[in-house]
Amino acid sequence: MPDSDTYYTRPMPPPWSKPLDIERVSRGEAAFEFDIALEDLARVAARADQVGGNVAGIVRFARHDDTATAQVVMHGTAIMRCQKCMQPVSLPVSSSVRLALLQDAGGAGAVPEPFEPVLAAGGCISVGELVEEELLLSLPIVPLHGADTPCGLAPAGADEDETPAEAVTQRPFAALGKLLSQK
Ligand SMILES: [Zn+2]
Repeated sequence: MPDSDTYYTRPMPPPWSKPLDIERVSRGEAAFEFDIALEDLARVAARADQVGGNVAGIVRFARHDDTATAQVVMHGTAIMRCQKCMQPVSLPVSSSVRLALLQDAGGAGAVPEPFEPVLAAGGCISVGELVEEELLLSLPIVPLHGADTPCGLAPAGADEDETPAEAVTQRPFAALGKLLSQK
């Protein structure tokens, strides 16, 4: 069967990258589960100099009045580069948003609360694009270790060492002066 190799090496796009017809999936109230590696999301990967981790969840399409909507619920972990110590930092991702899917940007101002407008150009959008949209809004532009997970390998003493060093070089003279004046 010489053709079998050709078949199996054909690139298989992940299901979350498939463009969905927003009119059809919203009228059918379709739901799609996903589990996506962040490095596979081009716009998320392009914004950070290092990104890893994954997010999993579900997208539920529905209608609100005459508008297609999507609720995106996702949990996971983003691993980015801490901009202080340049080491990886794990950032929890936990998000639930309701999006109004617009076919042109003109309607963005008319989107009612609690929906956030998202452009679905040509009436199509993929689960990956919805997840990416939300991640771009929720991930920090400058990732940093937090108080609960401080920079492990940061040279924490580097800045502080200089102050004591100066103090040490000045204090002996001050101390000596005191000693001399007491004698
Ligand atoms: Zn750090």
